[in-house]
Amino acid sequence: MSVLVFVDLDRGALGPTATQACGLAVDVANGAPVIAVAMGSAPAEVATALGAAGASTVTVLEHEALDDYAPEAWGDALAQIIGRVEPAVVLATGNDRGNEVLAHAAAVLDLPFAANVLSLGAIGPTTSLTRVRWGGSLIEHAELLSERPIVSTALHAFAAPEGGAVPVVETMALELSADAARTRIVDRITVDAGITLQTAPVVVSGGRGVGSAEGFAALEQFAALVGGAVGCSRVVTNQGWRPHSDQVGQTGKRVAPELYVACGISGAIQHWIGMQAASTVLAINIDAAAPMVAKADYAVIGDLHDVVPAIVAALERRRPRT
Ligand SMILES: Cc1cc2nc3c(=O)[nH]c(=O)nc-3n(C[C@H](O)[C@H](O)[C@H](O)COP(=O)(O)OP(=O)(O)OC[C@H]3O[C@@H](n4cnc5c(N)ncnc54)[C@H](O)[C@@H]3O)c2cc1C
Repeated sequence: MSVLVFVDLDRGALGPTATQACGLAVDVANGAPVIAVAMGSAPAEVATALGAAGASTVTVLEHEALDDYAPEAWGDALAQIIGRVEPAVVLATGNDRGNEVLAHAAAVLDLPFAANVLSLGAIGPTTSLTRVRWGGSLIEHAELLSERPIVSTALHAFAAPEGGAVPVVETMALELSADAARTRIVDRITVDAGITLQTAPVVVSGGRGVGSAEGFAALEQFAALVGGAVGCSRVVTNQGWRPHSDQVGQTGKRVAPELYVACGISGAIQHWIGMQAASTVLAINIDAAAPMVAKADYAVIGDLHDVVPAIVAALERRRPRT
């Protein structure tokens, strides 16, 4: 028995969440081989990181169509390696790429695919699982009837293990059909520089309560003082106060900072889904009964136009003078 984990590399670099599924893989494998599968290339430091995360083998699939993200080609390639290795279970982190590639591979193999899983029972023809449904508002207990379960882990539900050994690295050249790479990346535009919403340790996020695009200046100051990034709710992007790339939630980005500061955000489930993985949540709201206040670890009940500048002033007072 072996466990196969698809890891999302971006032109040879590990994506920020790619190894989360290794947490479940090592558990499920229970000492059996864990095979990490990467597309295109895997530099030595990536292989080392995958070994540390519990992979006993790193298999790199080679073909020119696999060098950059191409969901159908990656799905086809993954289906081929699954056919060769015949693992007991196939896993990937349930980020956009993980879910898309597993869905393609499952379709090619005509096997069922369960996305956003929180726990797996003993692997067999009937595998019990729990998974996140309806954008996070429902935890489903289900049974997956499949000779080879294909499963993505709910984003941020698992952490990559640490301290594994140096893995065996093998490369495998594949044949792919000419139309496998019909969906591929032809250009990239960098919209984020420096600290990004998804990597920032602190996210200062604003909602309707901010009131205007200009109102975000104080949130920008706050974020800059703590090495953070600014996020927002959908109302804000709908109003055109911030770009969609700043939106947190079901139809925006999912973030997992150490601290999430929700300024004038009510805490609708579609927003909560995007930041529920934050370690600590601070709500700033005039309404003590707002759902965000009820769910937050800390809350300041007050007008954010007073509270945020007061925090900025306090942080500036404490800033070491140069
Ligand atoms: C399919 C679907 C997908 C969606 N996806 C997303 C998504 O990805 N992200 C998302 O955010 N939403 C999403 N939504 C919208 C979501 O349901 C809410 O409508 C939205 O999150 C509300 O934004 P808000 O909290 O900024 O505004 P509101 O709900 O209007 O809340 C404003 C809050 O600000 C407080 N407030 C007002 N003035 C002040 C002040 N001066 N100081 C302090 N507090 C103040 C109020 O008390 C209130 O709590 C989605 C909805 C649907 C149906």
